[in-house]
Formats: sequence, C-alpha cells, structure tokens
Amino acid sequence: MGFAELWDSLLPLGRDPHTGGYRRFSFTAADAACRAWFCDHAAQRSLRLQTDRSGNLWAWLDPPPGPGPAGPAVATGSHLDSVPDGGAYDGPLGVVSGFAAIDLLRARGFVPSRPIAVAAFWEEEGGRFGVACLGSRLLTGAAAPPSARELRDSGGTSLAEAMAGAGLDPGGLGPDDERLDSIGAFVELHVEQGRALAGLGAAVGIAEGIWPHGRWRLDFTGRADHAGTTRLADRRDPMLPYAATVLAARRAAAEHAALATFGKVTAEPGAANAICSAVRAWLDARAPDEATLHRMVEQIEAAARQAAAEHGVEVGVRLESFTPRVEFDPGLRDRLAAALARRGITAPILPTGAGHDAGILAARLPTAMLFVRNPSGVSHSPAEYADPADCEAGVTALAAVLEELAGP
Ligand SMILES: [Zn+2]
Repeated sequence: MGFAELWDSLLPLGRDPHTGGYRRFSFTAADAACRAWFCDHAAQRSLRLQTDRSGNLWAWLDPPPGPGPAGPAVATGSHLDSVPDGGAYDGPLGVVSGFAAIDLLRARGFVPSRPIAVAAFWEEEGGRFGVACLGSRLLTGAAAPPSARELRDSGGTSLAEAMAGAGLDPGGLGPDDERLDSIGAFVELHVEQGRALAGLGAAVGIAEGIWPHGRWRLDFTGRADHAGTTRLADRRDPMLPYAATVLAARRAAAEHAALATFGKVTAEPGAANAICSAVRAWLDARAPDEATLHRMVEQIEAAARQAAAEHGVEVGVRLESFTPRVEFDPGLRDRLAAALARRGITAPILPTGAGHDAGILAARLPTAMLFVRNPSGVSHSPAEYADPADCEAGVTALAAVLEELAGP
C-alpha cells in the first residue's frame, strides 16, 4: 500500500470537526480507534502484533527461519497521541511511514536478515496525564510504575483506571529489558517542528541531538490593592516585574542563540479592577548545551530579582523539571547519512529543541532520528503540514535505513 492510502486511512480518526485539530488522548475512544488502526494494518501485512507490558504497540516483520539466531532487531515508529487540537503529522507520520517503508521494501523483494518492528508509543505528548513520553519512559524504566498509575487527568480519572477501561492491565506497567536488549537500533521518523530543512532545500534530515531543556516556576508576590485608589508610588504590583522578566527572557534567548518562553501564567486573585497579590509564571528554556542553558536562565532570574526589588515584590524561582541533552548515537547517525548518500539522498544533520520517544530510548540503545521537511515550521497546531512528496521522500529514506540496518 502506498503512503497516501495509508495516511488517508488514519486521517479522520480523532479529528475535531470544529477546530480541524486532533484530540487523540491516551485511552480515549479516539485513541482506541488509532490503536485498532495500528492492529488492522499489522494484520493486513501479516506482521506479528504485540502489546508490551507498558501498553505500547509493536508490529514485527520477522526474517525467514535460518540456521542461527537472527541478530538484534531494528525498530522504527513514533506516537499516535496528540496535544489538544494538535496537527496530523506530529507522531503519526513516523508510524505510517514505518508501515509504508515495509510495503516498499517488500515490493522490491527485500527479505530482512534481522527482525524489523514498527512501534507506536502512547502519551508522548503528555496530553492526558501531563508526563511527556510516558509510554517510552515506562518501557525503559525512566518512569516509576507506582507513581504513573496514580497520575490523574483533568477529570480526576487515574491512569490505572483509564488503562483498565481500555482493556489494558496497569499492573503490568514497567521496564521491559528483554525487549530492549533484543533491539540493536531504533530510528524514529518525525515531522520537523521548525523550518531548518525548508531553509536548506532538503526534504529529509538526520537529527544530531536534542537540546537540554527545563521548566522553571517563578512566583512573584506583591500586595493586592484597589486599582482605582492606590497611588502608583504605593503599589507592590507583581505584574510589573513579571512583565519585565518576559522581556528579559526574550533578550537573553536572542543573546545566547537559545529559546525562552513564558507560555503559562496565572494572576491571583485575578480581578480586572484590582492589583494582584501574586503572579505565577512558567519559563520553558532550551539551549544547544547545558552551560548556555544555565547561563541564560541565571540571567533571566537576575533580571526577575532586580525588577522585583524595584517594585517591592518578592520573587521565588523553582526548577520543576530538567531534561539533559540527548546525544544520538554518532556511529548510527554516520551509517544513516552514508546509506542515504549512497542512494543520492542529501540529508543535513540538524539539532532539535523538541523532546521525542527516541530521546528516551537513546538512554538504552543506539538511536537515531529522521526529520521530514515542514515548510511553515508550524507544529502542535491544525496548520501543521508536510508536502505529500516530502512524506514520500521520508518513506524512501526510512526504507533505505531499514534495508541498511536489517539487510544481509
Ligand atoms: Zn512527536
């Protein structure tokens, strides 16, 4: 089956008719439809279907029986869940391309010497339970099953209840060392979430690594007061140092060639006619290396403290989460680049600021990523797009990589 037909079969599932965005949250009806889609396509191809103990799906193309052991497997795949009103490509492109690459290889008469798997991980976006890459974290042991089972969605349903409701056993959650030890390489294909490939005129790229990133919470505490009677000189308004900090973060990011974003903020008590007592804001910061990231965040924190002092406001800064830099396997990356170059495919090497299941698996096995050009760079939005010809180029590149890694 060609990429277009496969792609169209997944496209309607979990799409909101009003926004055009996807709401494929783990263990909901939309997710069940996506999982059923995966199982159907595995069955249509006579691939061996497995659900690992943490609920991720695997479809295996086994080599013909030979005299000795087949050797380590090659896995590809991505995730099928979405952010609220997410785009069609982030995640599903990698799963669909995995099946399409297998079809392409079979059509050419390719017979693997090692097993090939297409995997679909759940809750990569953290869209329902708030922890990104939860399926792959549980698989590798990077997330603890007891605390994962206790996670709750915004409606109060626990992850254990949601999993059981989807017919999966939450008691089985946990690392699967046997599976991980049997895989020699994992290659995730993903839509690019930026415009680097568009600028380079290339349809496909190879990931260099994932920038270190962290989330900091800033609490600005002032004094609630009347917006109509409190003289400017008498105010302790936490909104002002907060605003100064947002601008300082933007300046610091530009200075360090990094990224700093305030995407979430709350004002308390939040009255339109009152000075607020507190402003709580979340800083998402990412940089090419950890030293630069820490220097940038220190600079933003210093700006927050200075602005707070000027306005008689207290400020507290707390690290909420930190993900170190992910270095993809250099040997595997070079092998991919060489295999693509031999077929006349130019694939530039790109760093990325976004987290991926491949970044979690990289802690356990040689891992690489392929990116497919995103002309506008927009992602996590219904406007996310990749040209059909570029998606085909992605399938061709992925097939070349699987042939290289699982071939004789
Ligand atoms: Zn993704």
